[in-house]
Amino acid sequence: MPTRNGRNASAFTDRGVLKLRNLRYQRDPTPVEPGCPCPACRRSRAYIRHLFIAGEMLGPVLLSIHNLTYYQRLMAQARRAIEENRFEQFRQSKREGWGLDEGSSGEKA
Ligand SMILES: [Zn+2]
Repeated sequence: MPTRNGRNASAFTDRGVLKLRNLRYQRDPTPVEPGCPCPACRRSRAYIRHLFIAGEMLGPVLLSIHNLTYYQRLMAQARRAIEENRFEQFRQSKREGWGLDEGSSGEKA
């Protein structure tokens, strides 16, 4: 899933999924996910978008790396939260960031 989404210009973040082909990112100088250590996040959203629009393979490659990095970091954070006995709090904060309300079907409106 992380690489398939990456190939389709979708990036996982703590604020939900970004569709980087969207025109709103055309001049966005911020990284895909501020604070992410992956190589994609050393570039701007505008640059990543440009790669997709231009059909450059580097776009899907970078976003796949970002999404895999996101999953790895998420699982590491979850493990830490479990070890520190605060998983429920962690789960709620992630769901809020993703725009998922408790009790919903899990689909973003
Ligand atoms: Zn990243």
